[in-house]
Amino acid sequence: MYQDRRKVIVIGGGLVGSLCACFMGQKGYHVVLYEKRSDLRKDSYMRGRSINLAISHRGRVALRSVGLEETVLGSAIPMQGRLLHGKTGALQSMPYDPVFNNCIYSIGRNSLNEVLLNAAENYDNVKVKFDHKLVNADIRRGVIRVQNKTTTEVFEETADLIIGADGAYSVLRSAMLMTPMFQFNQTHIEHGYLELYIPASSGDKMTPNHLHIWPRGQFMMIALPNKDTSWTVTLFMPLDNFTSLRDEDSIMYFFENIFPDAVPLIGKNSLVHTFLSTKPSQLISIKCSPHHFGSKFLIIGDAAHAMVPFYGQGMNSGFEDVSVLSELLDKNHLEVKEIIKLYSEMRVQNVQAVCDLAMYNYVEMRDLVMRKSFRARKAVDEVLYKLCPKIWFPLYNSVSFSSLEYRRCLENKKLQDKIYSLLVGVLLLSFLFVFINILRY
Ligand code: FAD
Repeated sequence: MYQDRRKVIVIGGGLVGSLCACFMGQKGYHVVLYEKRSDLRKDSYMRGRSINLAISHRGRVALRSVGLEETVLGSAIPMQGRLLHGKTGALQSMPYDPVFNNCIYSIGRNSLNEVLLNAAENYDNVKVKFDHKLVNADIRRGVIRVQNKTTTEVFEETADLIIGADGAYSVLRSAMLMTPMFQFNQTHIEHGYLELYIPASSGDKMTPNHLHIWPRGQFMMIALPNKDTSWTVTLFMPLDNFTSLRDEDSIMYFFENIFPDAVPLIGKNSLVHTFLSTKPSQLISIKCSPHHFGSKFLIIGDAAHAMVPFYGQGMNSGFEDVSVLSELLDKNHLEVKEIIKLYSEMRVQNVQAVCDLAMYNYVEMRDLVMRKSFRARKAVDEVLYKLCPKIWFPLYNSVSFSSLEYRRCLENKKLQDKIYSLLVGVLLLSFLFVFINILRY
């Protein structure tokens, strides 16, 4: 798209939308960002909550492009690996990348959003309008309808490029749903999640610089560190199990039996209070195709590919969407309609692959990590990765520490699984052969 001060509208000032506004601002476009909520930087309730996310390579690359990587990582906490908590309280560390020492980082969602909004507003050509909600879109006419929530006035708007970064329940995507050949698939998994909290006063008893996991087969609990030594804890569990925990006795019985070492850290009162006052949140996975419509509409981030959070790639893949779009926009000879079509062609398969990987990783985190077969495979992966990193690229490393297309990461995994099964098969047959020969003589 020619940088002759064309107009871009971004809908949604969450993580992906506000980063997108920075990229578009940097390119010199006139940018208007509409966010339905009020400004979180002025909202004392939002400021008080610390919910964190893991940022990895793809997210960092995008932040680097707009000069924000250092600022963001400056307030993030490195996590070198998983720390598994057994039922008896036994701990086991599982580094993410013992070969090249790469790590992921825990960052506060709100502070990251604040950094991104501040950066977007620093561009003179970016206007952020809070309390402005996309009501609907007449995508055939190329216009959107926005409501100013303060005055309740609804007005029509248009631009050369309109980007929906309005999250998993995207209004722009709903408008695209009505168009011919638009594919849409939505899955609510039967597991939900509840956020708990380890305060700074007991957080220093937790081993730092790890993502803590309490894997329990059908469900799990995880904890990510905050800067003040507190930890944000998330319990993922079938929704039916949440329903059965209705009173103090059942909650405490459950925790003391399943997560005994976490009870003193979270504290009984806080545990019971959170359970009795909060409904578990649902988890949704959304795939759709294409991600564009006509000559100007595009959806990115959760609006285009919401995924279950188990690979820590929702935001990272959304940030990568922005990097990919930005590279295409720099191809000056292309028109917007060609760019967004090309974007869809490049991106759909990749983000659908990471949605599948995210589903798989829940099983890995809550169950497989405890199995000897998983650990044996991880050890083999690490040896082969060290010996021939260009040929044997383990799944977690390719997803979290590289920009390899997600579908290639998935294809690699499938191929490696086959080779590994073959190796194990050959090994077992050789043992059998030796064993039979010993018996014969
Ligand atoms: P959102 O964050 O949902 O933002 C959408 C924005 O659009 C919001 O500000 C909303 O108010 C606004 N909006 C909505 N509708 C309208 C409208 N009609 N008009 C105007 N504005 C509108 N990802 C990771 O990479 N790493 C992690 O570790 C990680 N952990 C997670 C843990 C949990 C429990 C969950 C649920 C998700 C996790 N994710 C993680 C995923 C990550 O949170 C999302 O992928 C990311 O927030 C998506 O950003 P987004 O901007 O696309 O959408």
